[in-house]
Formats: sequence, structure tokens, C-alpha cells
Amino acid sequence: MYDYLIVGAGLFGAVFAHEATAAGKRCLVIDKRDHIAGNIYTEDVEGIAVHRYGAHIFHTNNKEVWDYVNRFATFNRYTNSPVANYKGELYNMPFNMNTFNKMWGVITPAQAQAKIEEQRAAHYTEHPRNLEEQAINLVGQDIYEKLIKGYTEKQWGRPCTALPAFIIQRLPVRFTFDNNYFNALYQGIPVEGYTALVANLLEGVEVRLNTDYLADREALNALAAKVVYTGPVDAFFDYQLGALQYRSVRFETETLDMPNYQGNAVVNYTDSETPYTRIIEHKHFVFGSTEPGTKTVISREYSAEWKPGDEPYYPVNDQANGALYARYKELADAQPSVLFGGRLGEYKYYDMDRVIEVALDRVRAELA
Ligand code: FAD
Ligand code: UDP
Repeated sequence: MYDYLIVGAGLFGAVFAHEATAAGKRCLVIDKRDHIAGNIYTEDVEGIAVHRYGAHIFHTNNKEVWDYVNRFATFNRYTNSPVANYKGELYNMPFNMNTFNKMWGVITPAQAQAKIEEQRAAHYTEHPRNLEEQAINLVGQDIYEKLIKGYTEKQWGRPCTALPAFIIQRLPVRFTFDNNYFNALYQGIPVEGYTALVANLLEGVEVRLNTDYLADREALNALAAKVVYTGPVDAFFDYQLGALQYRSVRFETETLDMPNYQGNAVVNYTDSETPYTRIIEHKHFVFGSTEPGTKTVISREYSAEWKPGDEPYYPVNDQANGALYARYKELADAQPSVLFGGRLGEYKYYDMDRVIEVALDRVRAELA
């Protein structure tokens, strides 16, 4: 009946379905949740677009991807500039001249560089083997202790010495007064929310919600020639090699009777005692929504080790999980009629722009 059964109505599944449908293929998209858009789902609460599965800021250096998403949504010019709260001291993120000035009182880039140089001299390792060594190399001991260590260990539930260096390489270090969190040419938030963006991608595509592929695999397989699977790869194989580890996040969302709770969309709590990693105030992703008398919606994010029944969010990028994933990948490659994609299907720490890039590559290769 269908050329493709696409498991997962998230970004990967939606881009794949859009392109395959445009090329004349018949697609059925299913999702076990009761809504489309996967983890980028946004919903209206008190007139505010709430990011139910965590704050999502679209950013990319890939012009093709930026042009692509702009076909399906209008983006505002939001620039992510989180504030870090360390025991009541506030610092601008990412690490830039504003951060260095607050931390050390330095005024010029040369003074900031000299301070970092002095701090890292005691620890410098040419080839950092873990996140702690990488962080101290980049920004010195003080920033590591106040803005990185506590946050990272809460986020990943592991000591910084047991985490790979590349996680922190995501964050820019700048010797300019620039609080833009991302080194990206293009950045913004869809004005109508991400759900509308995904709905536009899925226009004209048949979608069945509340449908768990793994609960009814044989009947669903019989519907299509090929399967595109964007759920967790280990679940697909019934965890036969053991479970991959994920980090999960619990969101505690509250509507408050005040116009403005924290003055910024994202405030990170970088000490180790505060149990949550950050508080998102959703209205600040759009402009002009802090008039007196209005309400606001905030979400506290608690990071936790994933256990069965939880939502998997972040693949755990350590050696043991990398090695286990490589074995699952062999099993996946041996399934000629199933294509595995997305953050969970490929067990990769992908941002949205990478998911789109990879989905476009994969669907083009399929259709070629
Ligand atoms: P998903 O969105 O997870 O979609 C997979 C879908 O498959 C889900 O809807 C799921 O219900 C469905 N599914 C799974 N198993 C089954 C099954 N058995 N049967 C049926 N359906 C199934 N990226 C950015 O670029 N910027 C950001 O600011 C950003 N912030 C993030 C914040 C958080 C807290 C997290 C966790 C991620 C963030 N990301 C961000 C990454 C972004 O969420 C992902 O790149 C993107 O959502 C991945 O899309 P996907 O389609 O691969 O996966
Ligand atoms: N990080 C940190 N302090 C912060 C924010 C981030 O140490 O205040 C580190 C942390 O290790 C985190 C990594 O930088 O895992 C990447 O942060 P990012 O905000 O990109 O994470 P994500 O958007 O994936 O949640």
C-alpha cells in the first residue's frame, strides 16, 4: 500500500516524508505520541508557545538548510544569550568578554587572554583526554569551577573527567562582548511555533498518531515496502545486545501570575546544589510579551539517567556506549529494508540543522 512506513513524526521523519511524497512516493507516518513534531513540539499555553520537550533554538551555518526551513515557517530574529546563575552571581554565556569582566574584572581581550593563560598554565595538556582537561585549557580553572563543572555533572550524571572533550567544544569562547550562544550565521525561532513547521512539512502526508511500531510491528511492516525508523535503535532490536544509555530530562512546567519571571528565556544554574540545570521562560523566545498583568510560563529542567518508560533525550557519548552502538549499527546495516535515522535511530547528539541535513542526504540517496 505504501512505499515507506515512517516511524516517528519528528523532524527527521517529517523531512523524509515531505521529500519522498514530493517525489511521488506513498508514505505513512506513524508516531506513538498523540502529537506530531517529536521533541520539537510546541503547544499554546496562555497564548505562549511552550516548548514541551525543552527549549529549541534553530541555528545553522548551512544556507541550504536555512533556506529549506524558511520554506515551511517564518523565523524571528531571536538570538540565544543564556545567563548563568552561580550561587546568585550572574554571568553572561557563552564565555566572552562580559563573562571575563564579571569573573576577573579584566577590561581588554589581552587581559582576559593573559588571565586564562595564567590559570591554565598549571594544568595544560596538549591533547585533552576528557571534558575537564578540555574546559580548563579553553577558559581556565575559575570558569571551569563556577560555570562548567556543576552544570555538566548535573546534565550528564557523570564526572567531567569521564566525559568526552567534544561536548564542551559546542560552546564558543570569544574575546569580544558578544553574548550570542551560537557561532551560526542563521538563527531564530519559528513565529508560529515548531509544531506548525512540522505540520507544513507533513501537509498531504498520511499520519497516524498513538501508534507504537514496536507493539504491532508485523502488521505495520506488511503495509509498506520499506521502513524509516527514527526511534531508539536498541529498542528496535529488543535490547538484544543490552540497553544503550540515555539521559532523560524531567520538565516541571508552571504558569505564574506575573509578566516576567527571570528576564531572559534561558537561565542556567551552574552550581551543583540546585537540583535543576536550567529554567526556561518560554515567552522570551518571542518579542514584546512582557506587558504588565500578563502571565508567564516557566519550565525547570531536571536531568536524570534514562530508565525504561522514560523519554530518551540525549545519547550518552562515552566509550562504552559508543562501542555498544557500533554493534547495533552492524545489526542495523544488515536490515536492507529498514533505514535508521535521527537522534535516536543513529544514537547521535544531533542538532536540528544536522537532522535536516542528514534526512535530506538520506532521502535523496534513496530516491536517486
Ligand atoms: P525526535 O524528535 O525524538 O522524533 C522521534 C519520534 O519517533 C518521536 O516523536 C517519538 O515519539 C517517535 N517514536 C519513537 N519510537 C517510536 C515507536 N516505537 N513507534 C512510533 N513512534 C516512535 N537542537 C537544536 O538545533 N537547537 C536546540 O536548541 C536544541 N535543544 C534541545 C534541547 C533538548 C532538551 C534536547 C533533548 C534536544 C535539543 N535539540 C536541539 C536537538 C533536537 O531536539 C533534535 O535534533 C531533533 O528533535 C531530533 O529529531 P528526530 O526526528 O531525530 O527525533
Ligand atoms: N555547559 C556548561 N555550562 C553551561 C552550559 C553548558 O558547562 O552553563 C556545557 C555542558 O557540558 C553541556 C555542554 O556545555 O552539556 C553543551 O551545552 P548545550 O547548551 O549546547 O547543551 P544542549 O543544548 O544540548 O542541552
